[in-house]
Amino acid sequence: MSGPRMQDFHRIEVRTDRASGLKAVFALHNLTLGPAAGGVRRWHYDSEDDAVTDAMRLAEGMTCKNALAGLPFGGGKSVILSDGKPVTRAQLRAFGRWLDQLGGEYVAAEDVGMTVEHMKEVRRETTFVTGIGAHPGPKTAHGVFVGIEAALEGKVTGTRIAVQGLGAVGMALVELLHAAGAQLVVADLDEAKVQRATALGAERAGTEEVLLSDVDVLAPCALGAVITPETARHLRAKVVAGSANNQLSEPLAGHILHQRGIRYAPDYAVNAGGIIHAGYEYLGWSGAMAQIDGIGPRLTAIFAESKATGEPTHVIADRMAHAAVAARRSHDAAPAAAVA
Ligand code: NAD
Repeated sequence: MSGPRMQDFHRIEVRTDRASGLKAVFALHNLTLGPAAGGVRRWHYDSEDDAVTDAMRLAEGMTCKNALAGLPFGGGKSVILSDGKPVTRAQLRAFGRWLDQLGGEYVAAEDVGMTVEHMKEVRRETTFVTGIGAHPGPKTAHGVFVGIEAALEGKVTGTRIAVQGLGAVGMALVELLHAAGAQLVVADLDEAKVQRATALGAERAGTEEVLLSDVDVLAPCALGAVITPETARHLRAKVVAGSANNQLSEPLAGHILHQRGIRYAPDYAVNAGGIIHAGYEYLGWSGAMAQIDGIGPRLTAIFAESKATGEPTHVIADRMAHAAVAARRSHDAAPAAAVA
């Protein structure tokens, strides 16, 4: 599998603050559409190389996500390397100072491992932060919910849906699906979260076995790379639509889903609700919910093109996102008179 290429990035930096013990990676991919916007992930990595690779893959995905969502932002992501201990105020402040030094090239919001309170602490050092009003997770869940309905071409009532990962997005999605009358199968590493979902009537499953549940829809809402070629060959769901970034471990997995007639909602198309909400908050724009509801029609267009061309949905989404970036680049490059 070909990973992200250094030469395609605007900036990649690994920074260390000895005083607070903070180490972080900043990956700014493509700034054609505007400043890079994307979450801060705080996670344990086996090595610095793993953290850099993760930040690069996530940043590349953000370029496509923001372009497809019609946001005036490029793609970026940052990663804080967790040492297993709670993040300290001093570390969050050091992170904020680094963000400020980037001078607005990158606008950061919450991702896995970061809370609104954490981002408020970061905000004390810089204005290049969003997602302060509320955690974007429930907005992402709303977008995934409308995306699932688009993939099913109807309501979720009475359908069986498996959700892997019950964090900020997964739990909000479970609540929406439960309220809409879906039957749920859930899994998380955290027993307390599983119990919250089973209290709503959800069945529990193992964290890996949930992927192969006998369901209509699989919603991966934990970490990425869960749809491997092997998993894709054995999935029983008819639809894969969830919030996790980089769900396909490699493009081949998307091709296998397509060959098997399983409808895959490209991750960055269906999980854009949070960045739309956070982006609108940053820009001071109103109307974020209407834009998030647009995820449904965008997916419907991708599914229709897939049917018409016989291409997998992830290929079509990539083409649409790259076309949006290329159109802006050629618009910017054109002489003023030609574009007036
Ligand atoms: P979170 O940290 O709040 O929750 C993640 C949950 O997944 C945790 O409860 C964790 O215990 C669980 N988990 C981890 N590994 C697991 C496994 N193998 N099996 C089952 N559960 C597992 O994160 P979140 O904000 O809910 O984000 C979830 C996913 O959606 C991430 O991939 C994130 O990048 C993506 N995403 C989030 C947003 C957002 O608005 N928060 C937006 C777009 C994409």
